[in-house]
Amino acid sequence: MREIIVKSAIALTEEQKAKLEAGLRAADPQSELRFRYQIDRIVGGIVVVDGEDVYDASIAAELRKLKKSSDRLVHHGKDGKGIAVQDIPALLKSKLDEMIDHKHDYEVCGKVIAAADGVIRIEGLQDCRYGELLLVGTHGFALAMNLEETEVGAILLSEIDTAEYGDFVYTTGKIVEVPVGDELLGRVVNPLGQPMDGGDAIKGETTRCVESPAPAIIDRQKVSEPLQTGILAVDAMIPIGKGQRELIIGDRQTGKTSLAIDTILNQKGKDVLCIYVAVGQRASSVGKIVRTLKAHGAMDYTTIVLSTADDSAPLQYLAPYTGAAIGEHWMEEGKDVLIVYDDLSKHAVAYRAISLLLKRPAGREAYPGDVFYIHSRLLERAARMADEKGGGSMTALPIIETLAGDISAYIPTNVISITDGQIYLESELFHSGVRPAINVGLSVSRVGGQAQIPYIRKISSALRLKIAHYRELAVFSQFGSSLGDATKEILDDGAKTVEALKQGEGQPMSAFREAVSLYATVKGHLKSIPVSKVNAFLEGLYRYISTTMPELQRSLKDRGTFDHREEARLETAVSAFAKQFGAQ
Ligand code: ATP
Ligand code: MG
Repeated sequence: MREIIVKSAIALTEEQKAKLEAGLRAADPQSELRFRYQIDRIVGGIVVVDGEDVYDASIAAELRKLKKSSDRLVHHGKDGKGIAVQDIPALLKSKLDEMIDHKHDYEVCGKVIAAADGVIRIEGLQDCRYGELLLVGTHGFALAMNLEETEVGAILLSEIDTAEYGDFVYTTGKIVEVPVGDELLGRVVNPLGQPMDGGDAIKGETTRCVESPAPAIIDRQKVSEPLQTGILAVDAMIPIGKGQRELIIGDRQTGKTSLAIDTILNQKGKDVLCIYVAVGQRASSVGKIVRTLKAHGAMDYTTIVLSTADDSAPLQYLAPYTGAAIGEHWMEEGKDVLIVYDDLSKHAVAYRAISLLLKRPAGREAYPGDVFYIHSRLLERAARMADEKGGGSMTALPIIETLAGDISAYIPTNVISITDGQIYLESELFHSGVRPAINVGLSVSRVGGQAQIPYIRKISSALRLKIAHYRELAVFSQFGSSLGDATKEILDDGAKTVEALKQGEGQPMSAFREAVSLYATVKGHLKSIPVSKVNAFLEGLYRYISTTMPELQRSLKDRGTFDHREEARLETAVSAFAKQFGAQ
């Protein structure tokens, strides 16, 4: 006995069934046939399944064919380069016109059955892929996140009110793509690559998927070139190399953003392209950042990917990946890129909101199980490429905000374990006037040491220990008043070292200035200078040395170090200046 399955969109009448059965029996009088009827989502028409043979006369099949041909349009459009998000509505509109021409005025793809808080549930969407871009209604976009047996859960990328119950949803066969390339320099764009600075539309001749796999191990090489932040304390003690991922972590209002922005300012004239990704930041603070960057002429080599606190969670979630895609394009062209993710705590919160709305199981602190993965796959995209691959690099400075200094919370520990070190900023230090408020004991750089400028590495090797020693003694000295001379000396020296490492906002230092300041600090030239005058002394010293001994600056630039003779001349000059300064 053979079983024949007949699928139709609506129940067939007895009459229709009898006619169909008679027809099929007549075609094959020998076999005994049994018929089973099913209602299926095939829009219209009929499908007959006879063992392995399927006779598909459904409208759904017709539409699939139609969709395939328009997919080809999508993939090969514009010299085979793919298309940007902005171009998709036009394409889909033509696809719709095509369908109307064919009189297929049926439900084509899916239908929204629930829409709330930026998350929609769609019924009847066939052939949908994970992460695929969906067109909702006529102009809304959504990202397919949950594929279930009968439903698809998607997050809305456009304004929440673009989706309504009953809206049609179409698959596009595309992953979200954004425009990339030099066109983006100096621009502020949203996570979909649309301009937010009131400037011209971005042409988007080159585009790239926001999600792409990290470079393979073979394609990478080790971090060996310094990325100067221009912040003395960081370059001396927590050096960062090109291609490294260094976390900036600290409570709110401890100067995290300022540290990252100063690093961007310091890349001026150094052939490093910068990207600042704002995730859920206040619009006013991003406005301030843009003004700062413009004032220092840093917008020429910087792109800002903006998602503010009032943007939907899906857009905030997408922002870092968009930034990474823009950076990767330059990295693959062999350029050096610096990318700041400000901040990943808000990114995790946005992802938690999405996951809860999609009804995914919640884990620790209500974050979903894959919250580690969203950050690891993002940060793994930062790399230094092998020379055969162009030798470009992408250095990532993710930022994490802690609560009450708790770096052992879930998200901070996750990101600490992914990155190559962290710069820990402390509220207490910040409020006591030590700015940048770097806690030297808890900050590390796991790979940057190999990339540090040799002379700075040599001269600052004892600095970290010195500061740790000072902090320890400073705590003890609060208890008793009778301190030995040796202790007093260490305390005095420590206080001056801390003072020398203080640095105002928006004043990144050149490597030469760092070397001179470190030299004076480490070699004990601050002994005769009162603490309150340390900064003035170092500033004067730098001006004096750079005018009287410009050849030293050249040596440091070319060779990264000074030889014995040069060092001896530096010593004489510093002593002379200290004497002169003391006399004033
Ligand atoms: P949030 O948690 O709000 O993002 P944040 O940790 O990013 O804060 P910033 O916004 O960078 O901190 O800085 C906080 C304040 O401290 C700002 O007003 C900034 O001007 C000031 N500030 C930061 N760094 C320094 C510095 N080195 N010297 C003086 N002031 C600073
Ligand atoms: Mg900040």
